[in-house]
Amino acid sequence: MRETGLADSKSILLLEYMNVKELLSKIDGCDRVIIPLGSIEPHTEFFPLGTDKIIAERLSIELSRELHRNGKCSIIAPTIGYGLSIEWKKSGATVTLSPLTIMYLLTDIVTSLIEMGFKKIIILNGHGGNSEIIRVVSREIALRNVDVEIIVIDWWRLVSDIIEKYSSTGMFLHSDEIEISLLLYWGIIREEDIRRIEKYIVKNSRLPWQSGKGIETYASIERDQALIAYGSPDKANARLGEFLVKEFCKRASSIIP
Ligand SMILES: [Zn+2]
Repeated sequence: MRETGLADSKSILLLEYMNVKELLSKIDGCDRVIIPLGSIEPHTEFFPLGTDKIIAERLSIELSRELHRNGKCSIIAPTIGYGLSIEWKKSGATVTLSPLTIMYLLTDIVTSLIEMGFKKIIILNGHGGNSEIIRVVSREIALRNVDVEIIVIDWWRLVSDIIEKYSSTGMFLHSDEIEISLLLYWGIIREEDIRRIEKYIVKNSRLPWQSGKGIETYASIERDQALIAYGSPDKANARLGEFLVKEFCKRASSIIP
């Protein structure tokens, strides 16, 4: 296995760095594949556009390591960096797939991985806007492949009790203290970066479709609104990020067959 740059451990297998021989020798005893899925959209003016992509990718690596520690081998497929971010288009800083494109893309990738011999397909999603479409695709593919399990993980749902306890709104939002805590933990941003977004923080704000009352109202997001930091990102801290990551990995690893 060549140096991957991303991984510091032999327990990490990145599909794009493997050759045919390595893949064929591995796949027999290693039929789990993780597909990180993210998005490219604004996270205030200062945090990475690829925040959701970075989170999905890093969590996939940490989860793969945890699975390995529990005797469950997994291979990580190349990250799908783009997602369904149509609501954020007016920000002028969004690259989105259209709904049909992401459906076809996911279907083609998952189908190819199944044809390669993978039996447990884990889609690790970092972006709320992708959630519905992943489920539609997974249901459809599962019907055609009876011996395959498609495991869909919206990472924040697996640790929703922690988010409820530690976030100011009790919810997972956008550019909020939860996302920012993960970025701090991985050293992607620094604490002083948070001070730069103070003017973007709108306390207790929610996205139009996050009323929390069982009714979603969809509205496009105007440019200024797209740069808002929701929740209380000034409360973000690396320790919370670490706790979320560790708990996520522990829980996902115990559930994944
Ligand atoms: Zn995000």
